[in-house]
Amino acid sequence: MAKVLSANLGYPRIGEKREWKKALEGFWNHKLTETEFLETTKQLRLSYLQKQKDRGVDLIPVGDFSFYDHVLDTAVLFGLIPERFKQHDDAVTLDTYFSIARGNQNAEASEMTKWFNTNYHYIVPEISNQTKPRLTTNRLLDLFNEAKEAFGITTKPVIVGPITLLKLSKGYDATHFDALLRSLVPLYSEVFTQLAAAGAEWIQVDEPILVRTTNNDDLNIFKQVYQQIKAAVPGLKILLQTYFESVDCYADLIKLPVDGFGLDFIDGAAGNLAALEQFGFPKDKVLAAGLVDGRNIWKTNLADTLSQAEKLLTFTGGPEKLWITPSCSLLHVPVTIENETALDPLLKDALAFADQKLSEIVTLTKGLNEGRASVQPALDAARQSIQHLQQSEQRNNRAVEAELADLDKELPKRPKDYAARQKIQSEVFHLPLLPTTTIGSFPQTAEVRQARRKWRKGEWTDAQYNDFIKEETEKWIRIQEEIGLDVLVHGEFERNDMVEYFGEKLDGFAFTRFGWVQSYGSRCVKPPLIYGDVAWQTAITVAESAFAQSLTQSPVKGMLTGPVTIFNWSFVRNDISQADVFNQIALALKKEIQALEEAGIRMIQVDEPALREGLPLKEEKKAAYLHRSVYAFRLATSFVRNDTQIHTHMCYSEFDEIIDAIDALDTDVISIEAARSHGEIIATFEKFAYKKGIGLGVYDIHSPRIPSVEEMQSYAERALQVLDPHIFWINPDCGLKTRKPEETIPALKHMVVAAQNVRAEL
Ligand code: GLN
Ligand code: ZN
Repeated sequence: MAKVLSANLGYPRIGEKREWKKALEGFWNHKLTETEFLETTKQLRLSYLQKQKDRGVDLIPVGDFSFYDHVLDTAVLFGLIPERFKQHDDAVTLDTYFSIARGNQNAEASEMTKWFNTNYHYIVPEISNQTKPRLTTNRLLDLFNEAKEAFGITTKPVIVGPITLLKLSKGYDATHFDALLRSLVPLYSEVFTQLAAAGAEWIQVDEPILVRTTNNDDLNIFKQVYQQIKAAVPGLKILLQTYFESVDCYADLIKLPVDGFGLDFIDGAAGNLAALEQFGFPKDKVLAAGLVDGRNIWKTNLADTLSQAEKLLTFTGGPEKLWITPSCSLLHVPVTIENETALDPLLKDALAFADQKLSEIVTLTKGLNEGRASVQPALDAARQSIQHLQQSEQRNNRAVEAELADLDKELPKRPKDYAARQKIQSEVFHLPLLPTTTIGSFPQTAEVRQARRKWRKGEWTDAQYNDFIKEETEKWIRIQEEIGLDVLVHGEFERNDMVEYFGEKLDGFAFTRFGWVQSYGSRCVKPPLIYGDVAWQTAITVAESAFAQSLTQSPVKGMLTGPVTIFNWSFVRNDISQADVFNQIALALKKEIQALEEAGIRMIQVDEPALREGLPLKEEKKAAYLHRSVYAFRLATSFVRNDTQIHTHMCYSEFDEIIDAIDALDTDVISIEAARSHGEIIATFEKFAYKKGIGLGVYDIHSPRIPSVEEMQSYAERALQVLDPHIFWINPDCGLKTRKPEETIPALKHMVVAAQNVRAEL
């Protein structure tokens, strides 16, 4: 009988307890031999297949597993190795592979950057105009055979498609795009031919680039490429997979000569559904429907989703033409909820991580194949769990709701404009031209981390820990005074992480024990869960800031993480709008800022390093996101006194698209990471004629190198060719928590001398 199939698009690599990370780091630190590493990771990989098989997934992916990153895997597969890592023989060794990702004694690592709008980072392939792609080892074939041998299953290999791969690469001129693509396509065909010969039926070709605003010219390229591939490998079926948004040009897209399309019905729901309604769906092709959220951690409302799936079924040429899938690879969610023994049961019951999502997919598929009644208990259970959380006290904080309902449509505004504030503030602070400051954190030494561990374990009392933090703060206040910085910070010694620290003290947040997701390489993050109404209870940062300020005559900046960054670095409830969550956080921060002002703190920095990364993929959605962001930031900050100076900080990003929003934040001072791409960033701020306080980082804190006075001076001088000295600040690129004291102190001394030298020239 013809049946709907369940399919997975990708499984997390890291393991329930981050076994993968441990294996990788063990290998890098020479605690595992290459043989041991390969064996350990093979066992992990097989256990992931086993789990998916046990849960009843029909189409299990291979090739999603990686030793580092799937974009790097694809680049290596096609011999796209940066010149500086070239080796003589054809095969690419593990050593070369990891060197590209992490650098080695002789060569710098390849750049990494964010995978679309997720918090996953991929290694940017480096291609030159001269690059000649070639097939190295067909690892997809090895992985396909491995699964077949171990379990007798025919898996669905996954690969990043040629157009997405090239578009995400750098180093070649746009004019060479066609030629490069022409040389890549036969290699893809060769990989696919080998897979087909080994018995593969389907291949999942990921082309997420299709969700970035696409036009018909772009689509023509797709047409040529996939025609060629299909002609070369007629026996293999191709699923063209998209995710993270809806596709543009749907009507033409579905004419592409492939065998199926994977569409995201979570993040791309509105656009994809509308297109489907308008243009229908080809009866001879498979619709892989991403109906279970692959990027968030909430249970699916199975009853509603099943209805949606039933509707999608009517568009297809029959049940065998519909697959139920996650909305994207499950790489972006933690592995399993099963080990979370300490979570509030009410919350835990409403969560689904990767393993649970696969079960949801299997349930939906069964509901379609065997009728709703066959899964009714599961549908009821899911609805109940969701309802319980929905009706809980945590989600129904009347005070917060009243405050939200009270908000004005108009952007909150500071009582006076920047020029007037600047005048008032300059009389209060008496800062020199080109004031020097830092971004907030000072080195989180082994000692600091150990102190926190002892306190968390209960080996240290609160008093012991607080005393330690105070000593550390005082030590660094003295160091800053001695260095001669103009505006000081308390050093953030009490913080493990700039989001978690706030989440732990605000209502509405929860923390998992094993809810890790891969960020880049072996580095994993454990995002907080924003599951309830966010509310401020008691002061979060006031004691530390006030203590630091009491030690010195120089201004000490209060230090907070902004609403947009807290949102973007968490897993967030999806029952209310993004604007509502932004504003809830903003209202909580506003109370914190009030408390800081009352404690006599006159400069307050609200960091928004993640503002840029939340930018929607679709052009038409960007303005609304930026408006929500600006609104929330101003809600938190704009009520302050005229003589309270509001700062913000952003890490490096492409500023062109957000410069208007940055200006609209209306901060008195912004500090920006700039040392590595100084020229570019200056150009953006020059073009915009930026007029408010600004510090463009003169010192790259990502490297242990101590920059010289001359180097930092030259950065400042270059900036001053286009920026008014009355608005310019001198600061490092970012916080210094990952640096050592012996790197930090001399570098900051050089920075202060550089500032003095430049001042003397003015
Ligand atoms: N204030 C933070 C720090 O210095 C900012 C960190 C960031 O921008 N990521 O650590
Ligand atoms: Zn930063």
